[in-house]
Amino acid sequence: MLNQLTVSELAAKLARREVSAREITQSCLNQIARVDGKIHAFLSHDAGDALAQADAADKELSGGVKKPLLGIPIAVKDVLAVKNQPLNCGSKILGQFISPYDATAVEKLKAAGAIVFGRLNMDEFAMGSSTENSAFGTTKNPWDTARIPGGSSGGSAAAVAADECIASLGSDTGGSIRQPAALCGCVGLKPTYGRISRYGLVAFASSLDQIGPFTKDVRDAATLLGVLSGADPRDATSVPVPVPDYAAALDGNIKGLKLGLPREYMIGGLDPEVKAAVDAAVKQYEKLGAEVVEISLPHTDYAVATYYIIATAEASANLARFDGIRYGARIDGSDPIELYAKTRGAGFGPEVKRRIILGTYVLSSGYYDAYYLRAQKVRTLIRNDFLKEFETVDAIVTPTTPTAAFKIGEKSDDPLQMYLSDIFTISCNLAGICGVSVPCGFTRSPKLPIGLQLLGPPFGEARLLKLAQAYEQATGWHREKPPLTAGA
Ligand code: GLN
Repeated sequence: MLNQLTVSELAAKLARREVSAREITQSCLNQIARVDGKIHAFLSHDAGDALAQADAADKELSGGVKKPLLGIPIAVKDVLAVKNQPLNCGSKILGQFISPYDATAVEKLKAAGAIVFGRLNMDEFAMGSSTENSAFGTTKNPWDTARIPGGSSGGSAAAVAADECIASLGSDTGGSIRQPAALCGCVGLKPTYGRISRYGLVAFASSLDQIGPFTKDVRDAATLLGVLSGADPRDATSVPVPVPDYAAALDGNIKGLKLGLPREYMIGGLDPEVKAAVDAAVKQYEKLGAEVVEISLPHTDYAVATYYIIATAEASANLARFDGIRYGARIDGSDPIELYAKTRGAGFGPEVKRRIILGTYVLSSGYYDAYYLRAQKVRTLIRNDFLKEFETVDAIVTPTTPTAAFKIGEKSDDPLQMYLSDIFTISCNLAGICGVSVPCGFTRSPKLPIGLQLLGPPFGEARLLKLAQAYEQATGWHREKPPLTAGA
């Protein structure tokens, strides 16, 4: 089935004129019709618009036009602005809002010829690890629909894992690309802070947020990263570092590269099957000629606490704009204050309110120094831990998550337990470095995907992806399909 193929496989078929963009798009739409009732990865999609884009792509293809994603259907998380499409961020507060413009990342996908379609489910304003915080219902894990797909980009991961699209975009503030990619069995890349413009990405925590791709293999992640990267005058935090040919870097030769295993990541809560899969991956790397050494990231213990101060502080400021005046839903009051209170009270869900309250508290006078300022200092220590190790190792290997996908409802009453599911992914955002999750095996019963996380130095994506791809090609875990969708 065409919808099961990768970007590079489809691009080759399109170039040979063996298939049309319309056929590819139709096979994704058919798959959505077949499985999305069970998975709920999509909040909405416009089939007519997707097919119209496909027809335009087919015209270009027959005119000999060459673009890296020409004719490839790519779906996006509901936090990225796509012109004339709904933008809800998994929240009720945006009401019937329709985006008047394209995010830079979306603009770049379109310029590369992609068929950009669909709104993918997510935790409200990207706050969560399971999509249970979406105002529009939970996405289910394609490997076991009684379980969560991870979050906050759960829809983006589930849609790729269930072959409802060829690739997708998500955003990662503390793990929201890598964690759901791990739990759904696909590849998820969080680029270096500043690598991809955030213009048109609704901000959660501006110093941590990054856009990144979900794909079926590492080569596709490299292709998408190449398309998406680069400085943008509309995002002052995007950095004018040259964009290498990421796909060309995937030469499979990792002999002599050095990998670090942080001793602080082998924690008590680590599931034995996850640990065994990561141990086996380390052995595989040694077989491929890499050298693996133990390293130390001594401030790891403080990462979750630091993140939940900085992320909530920034969120409390960013989410002030959703006030019933500027965008979306409005509940009138007798004065503006009452209007704000009623609109925000009804529009935001419980997790978003919890974070706004926490963030406002850590920024308030008297507590600012004790919490926010201190968290910023600890953040620097965490970043320095990484930079010091990257002087001697090429990448750091860890599990992506402490356990495989948990059951829907299992952690929703216990925010702290939920926060701990990002224990291995959060430091990467605090440090501003890059990270990728690749499939590295399955739990036995039930059969659920396990993810391996590789972390690299700032703007070190080329080597990171080369390492990830060498492992992927040697093992082939990424080729397994969930029973719900396999052979559909
Ligand atoms: N799960 C983390 C949180 O709830 C990370 C979310 C994200 O990366 N957007 O904040």
